[in-house]
Amino acid sequence: MRPPRFLTRCLRILMAACFGLLAAVSAQSATSPLELMVLGSGGPGATGRAASCYLVLIDGTARILVDAGPGAFARLGESKLSLADTDIVLLTHLHIDHAGELAGLFKARAVSTGDPIVFKVWGPAGTGAQHKEAYFPSTTRFLDLLFGKAGAFAYLSDFAAPITIQGQDIPATVHPNPAPKAIFVEDGLVVSAVAGHHRDAPAVIYRVDYAGKSITFSGDIDRQGLAGLRTIAKGSDLLVFNSVVLDPPGSREVLYTLHTPPQAIGELARDAGVHSLLLSHISPAVDAGRDAVLQSIKQNFHGQVSFAADGTRVLP
Ligand SMILES: [Zn+2]
Ligand SMILES: [Zn+2]
Repeated sequence: MRPPRFLTRCLRILMAACFGLLAAVSAQSATSPLELMVLGSGGPGATGRAASCYLVLIDGTARILVDAGPGAFARLGESKLSLADTDIVLLTHLHIDHAGELAGLFKARAVSTGDPIVFKVWGPAGTGAQHKEAYFPSTTRFLDLLFGKAGAFAYLSDFAAPITIQGQDIPATVHPNPAPKAIFVEDGLVVSAVAGHHRDAPAVIYRVDYAGKSITFSGDIDRQGLAGLRTIAKGSDLLVFNSVVLDPPGSREVLYTLHTPPQAIGELARDAGVHSLLLSHISPAVDAGRDAVLQSIKQNFHGQVSFAADGTRVLP
C-alpha cells in the first residue's frame, strides 16, 4: 500500500528543511573571519616546497596576497581558491623567492575575469643609488620595470582585463623605537607595517587585524629587525616566522646575518606575547632538524608551534 500523497509531501519538505539547516551550519563553520592559506612554505631552493607565498582570507574571501614566490602559481590552482577578490598585495622584500612569481599570479587573475582589476601593492623602499652592497629597486620601481609602459610585461595592462597597479613604498630603515603604521584600513580590516631587517635587502614586517584576530608575518629577518617585529606582533594570534637556520653553530655563519635562529624565535614569541607560531620558509636544515628546532623554541615559548606545508590552512 502506498502512503498517502500528503504524507510523502510532508516528508520531502521536512528532509529539504533538514538539508538546508545542515548546509547553513557547515557553511558557517567553514567560514571564519580571518584565515591563512599557505601557498608556499619554502625558500629559494627547489626542494619540493613552493617559495614564500600566502593568502589571507577575510570572511572566506582571499583578499590579501603576502609575497609571491616561485611555485605559488601551481599551489594556487591546487588550493581551488580564486584571486577574483584579491586587491591587496604585501611584499616583505624583493628577493626572488618572495617576489619572482608576481607577474604569473597577476596574469592568472587577469585571465580569470574581464572586469577591471585594481591591485594595491605595498613593499619596501629601495636601497637608493648609494647602495653599499646589493642594489634593490623600490617596490614602485620594481612594479614599473615589470608592468609599466616600458616594462617587461607592459602588454599585461589590457591583455585580458584592464589592470591598474597602485604601488606604495614603505620606508625600510630600522629605528631604535619602532612605530608600526596602519597602511590600509577598511570596514574593520587593518593592515599595518614596520621596517624589518634582512641584511642588505630592504624588508617590511606586516600585521593583519580583522574581527578581533590577527596574523603577523616576520618576512626574512635577522637580529636587527627583531625590535620592530616584537612591537608589531604584540599579542598577535598567529606569528608566521621564517625559519631558515639552526641555533649556532649549526648553520653557515653568513646565514645568521640574514635569518633568526630558533632560540631567538622562541624568545621573541614569548616577549611579544603571541598565541601561536607557524614556522614557514622552511629550509632543508630546519626540516631535517625539526626536533631540535622545536625543543629550542619551547625553552622560551609555551604556545602552539607548528611547521607550515604548502596548502596548510590556519584559523588564528
Ligand atoms: Zn627568502
Ligand atoms: Zn630573503
